[in-house]
Amino acid sequence: MRAACRRAVVIGAGFGGLAAALRLRARGYDVTVLEALDQPGGRARVFRQDGFEFDAGPTVITAPYLFEELFALFGERLEDHVELLPVDPFYRIQFHTGEQFDFFGDDERLLEEIRRFSPRDVDGYRTLVRKAKAIFAVGYERLADRPFDRASAMIAALPAMVRLESYRSVHSLVARHIRDERLRQVFTFEPLLVGGNPFRTTSIYLLIHWLERKWGVYYARGGTGALVRAMVDLLHRHGGELRLDAPVERIDVAGGRVRGVVLGNDTHLDVLESDVVVANADPSVVYRNMIPRAERPLATRRPVRQSPGLFVGYFGVSGDYPDVAHHTILLGPRYRGLLDDIFRRRVLADDLSLYVHAPARTDSRMAPPGHDAFYALAPVPNLRGRVDWRTARESYFDRMLDMIETRLLPGVRARLVTSRTMTPTDFARELRSADGAAFGPEPTLTQSAYFRYHNRSSIAGLYFVGAGTHPGAGVPGVLSSAKVLDRIVPPAVS
Ligand SMILES: Cc1cc2nc3c(=O)[nH]c(=O)nc-3n(C[C@H](O)[C@H](O)[C@H](O)COP(=O)(O)OP(=O)(O)OC[C@H]3O[C@@H](n4cnc5c(N)ncnc54)[C@H](O)[C@@H]3O)c2cc1C
Repeated sequence: MRAACRRAVVIGAGFGGLAAALRLRARGYDVTVLEALDQPGGRARVFRQDGFEFDAGPTVITAPYLFEELFALFGERLEDHVELLPVDPFYRIQFHTGEQFDFFGDDERLLEEIRRFSPRDVDGYRTLVRKAKAIFAVGYERLADRPFDRASAMIAALPAMVRLESYRSVHSLVARHIRDERLRQVFTFEPLLVGGNPFRTTSIYLLIHWLERKWGVYYARGGTGALVRAMVDLLHRHGGELRLDAPVERIDVAGGRVRGVVLGNDTHLDVLESDVVVANADPSVVYRNMIPRAERPLATRRPVRQSPGLFVGYFGVSGDYPDVAHHTILLGPRYRGLLDDIFRRRVLADDLSLYVHAPARTDSRMAPPGHDAFYALAPVPNLRGRVDWRTARESYFDRMLDMIETRLLPGVRARLVTSRTMTPTDFARELRSADGAAFGPEPTLTQSAYFRYHNRSSIAGLYFVGAGTHPGAGVPGVLSSAKVLDRIVPPAVS
């Protein structure tokens, strides 16, 4: 390895990029974050329109200590800048039959809900949660913030993974302990939050269940955007730089080592020299399009299966819906079949399952006075499917609203005052994501840990942070990936 250096460039201001920038700054680097869009946050940016402010992406905030740590690096406290409000219940799951399950964070009420649905599954859940804790102790506590770029790390983890039955899917493990079909859905949907198919993804992802139960589910007062703003302000207060509207066209690599980045705009190219480049951009795109072909590591040439896309509809209405939970999951009539359509067949199914976000239930200021604000998302095939979103966009949003009107928000159509949508084509174009995927490579056993894009590239000086690298998508995942960098980026020297 070459001598340590002083300057670091971070490509992208998603949660991962901002966390990496803060950590590098705390270690003495001169840090510049280059963000292609006109605002920070990436998937967590904010859409402002007609007096509404919509969080574009993440709304379920878990493991708050990961944010607290970033402020503590500079002797500050998160709570002096952002208030995290607990969400209760964590989720409300509504089945197509109209039955509702409230997913509470505490044992007593959660077990009561399970009993209400299926008394014989109470003991099974107790066993399942013990397993989730054991998986969490290995998969999260031991592995999430460690680099996984050596085969030896994978080999060392193997015995524990076998003991924990990581070769099983989340659904297969849950189904061994829970017999009620509805409860099986309740305890297997969480991998979908990071782009995983519960029928295909390794049971390691059951750790999400315990992560949520252990630390709780929160929403930031002022929205997830408030967390992004607080991180950017923290970076500025401590001398880091963030440049917006600064798309990086390529990474300057020569002789297997990074020399800097090349910024592009319509009129000219700018070169920014740096010995350390951290890419928060999608690694599939970085390796394919932003690095000279001859310098591209062999291991990154194998095909990667990207996670599905998302269709998101944001809408504001007059009046409010006070009885709706903050997070509602509206399940359609099919579970496995629908997931097959999305992940495997990559077709747009006639039935949908939705997640509906109602932030004003926790923070009334998330909608203008006399109004309510929502977003609904549906997992859909990524762009490897042949959906033409130019024609499907309107009709899909219509179907989404039909389902929401019938099952959750009566009369919503007549009360709409503003709306907008996002499709996988927008993820590809705006966020530069491969195949328009919402969560980077699909989290399967063969695309996790050592088999995911490594945090440390074999190109010297190039590092990755964010959903595409280890440990993976989701806010806790990408904040943990920034922690990995503390272990592998050399110390800064003047
Ligand atoms: C709709 C939605 C809802 C979600 N809900 C949740 C949730 O409730 N809870 C949860 O934990 N997770 C959730 N997730 C997942 C989570 O949001 C993401 O995994 C996480 O925010 C990704 O962060 P990231 O650091 O990988 O960067 P991203 O947010 O992907 O940001 C990457 C940034 O890099 C920039 N960039 C890319 N290429 C370049 C370039 N060449 N030059 C300059 N800049 C570039 C992009 O513009 C972008 O700003 C959700 C995701 C989506 C899409």
